[in-house]
Amino acid sequence: MEEGDECGGHIGPDAGHGGHIGPGGAEAAAALHPETVAVTAGRGGLPGAPGAPGAPLNVPPTFASTFRDADTVRYGRWSNPTWEALEDALGALEGGTALAFSSGQAAVAAVLATLEPGTTVVHPADAYLGTRELLTVAAGHSGLHGRAVDVTDTGAALAAMSAVDGPACLWLESPTNPTLGIADLPGLLAAATRSGVTSVVDNTFATPVLQRPLDWGASVVVHSATKYIGGHSDLLLGITVATDRARHAALLAHRTREGAVPGVMEAFLALRGLRTLPVRMERQQATAAVLAARLEGHPAVTRVRYPGLASHPGHTRALAQMRGFGAMIAFDVPDAAVADQVVASVRLAVPTTSLGGVETTIERRSRWPGDAHVPPGLLRLSVGLEHAEDLWADLAGALGSVRRHADGG
Ligand SMILES: *Cc1c(COP(=O)(O)O)cnc(C)c1O
Repeated sequence: MEEGDECGGHIGPDAGHGGHIGPGGAEAAAALHPETVAVTAGRGGLPGAPGAPGAPLNVPPTFASTFRDADTVRYGRWSNPTWEALEDALGALEGGTALAFSSGQAAVAAVLATLEPGTTVVHPADAYLGTRELLTVAAGHSGLHGRAVDVTDTGAALAAMSAVDGPACLWLESPTNPTLGIADLPGLLAAATRSGVTSVVDNTFATPVLQRPLDWGASVVVHSATKYIGGHSDLLLGITVATDRARHAALLAHRTREGAVPGVMEAFLALRGLRTLPVRMERQQATAAVLAARLEGHPAVTRVRYPGLASHPGHTRALAQMRGFGAMIAFDVPDAAVADQVVASVRLAVPTTSLGGVETTIERRSRWPGDAHVPPGLLRLSVGLEHAEDLWADLAGALGSVRRHADGG
C-alpha cells in the first residue's frame, strides 16, 4: 500500500480531507458571498479550538512534526491543522476540496505528476513559464507531451484537444500571463467534460473572487497562493482544488509521498492574507481600471492589454464570465530599451518579478529567456493598494522622462 493511501486511511473522514467539507465548507458556503466566505471559512474543525467559548478566533499555527496518538494517527507530512484551516477556506471559496503545497510550482508539478502517463497536455502558448518548463523538461521523465495553443482561439483549442491521440489534458489560464488573453473558460471546460478530457485551470491571476472554474466543470484548479491569496509578498505556497474524491486522493498521496508540503507559518500567513483577498481585489482592480484607461491615452504607450478596456479583444468574454477584470495590466512601449528606462524611472512601483501583492510591481517580461516570445517592449504591471493618483503620477513621470530623453536625443 502506498504511504499516501495509508495516511488517508489512518486519518479517517473526520479529521482528514475527505470529510471536512462540512459546516464552514463548500456546501454551507454556497449561499454566502465570497467576501463572507473569505472571512468565515477555515475557523472550525479543531477540538476545543475556534468556535468554543474562550478559544482564539483564528486557528493558530501548529508547529508539529508529530502528534500524540489518538483515535487517528497523524504525522506532520500527512496533514497539519494550520494547513487544514487554509484548505477549508480555499475549498469553500473555489467549490471543491483543497490541498496546500510548498509552492505554486509544487502544486502544478503535483497535478502534472498525477496525470495518466503518456497524456498530451494542451496548454496556452503563453502559459506561466514555470509550467511550460515543467512540461518540456520534466515531461521527458513523466512521459507527458506538451502541445502549445492560443487558448483565446476557442476553435484552435478545441481542434488541438480532439487531435490528441490517447489521454488528453486541457491546461488553461485566463487571463493568460503576461499578455492577459481571455479564454472561453465555460465553453472550453464544458467541451473537455463532454469528451472526458481532464481539465486544469491555473486560477492565480483571477482568484476565486473573480471566477470559479470548478463550477464550469474543471477537474482541478491550481494556484500560486504566493501571489494574490497570500497577497503580501512574504510567502511561497501552492494550492490544488478538486471536486472528484479520487483525484483529490491522488494529489494527497502524491504530496505525502513527494513531501512538497507547506510550512506551517506560510499556511497561517496565507490564510491571514486570504481574509482580505476580496477587498484587496476590489480596490486593486478599481485602480487598475483607472491606470489602464490613462495608459491607453498616453502618447508613449503603443498598446494596453487589460480585459476591462473596451479595446481588449477578450473584453466581452471577460464581462460575461468574470466578476471583475482583475488587477494585472500589460502595456507596450516601442522597444525593450524604452521599457527598461520606464522600469528604471519609476519611484513607487517596485521593479521586480512576481505579482499579486499590496505593492505595485513592474517588469519587462521579455527579459526572461522563457518569455522571449513576448513583445520586447511589454511591461507587466501588478497593481497594488497604493493610491491611484500616486501610481499614475509615478507612471506618467517615468513615461514622460523617457519621451524627454528621446526628444533630446
Ligand atoms: C507564480 C506562478 C506560478 C508558480 O508559483 P510559485 O508560487 O512561484 O511556485 C504558477 N502559475 C502562475 C500563473 C504564477 O503566476
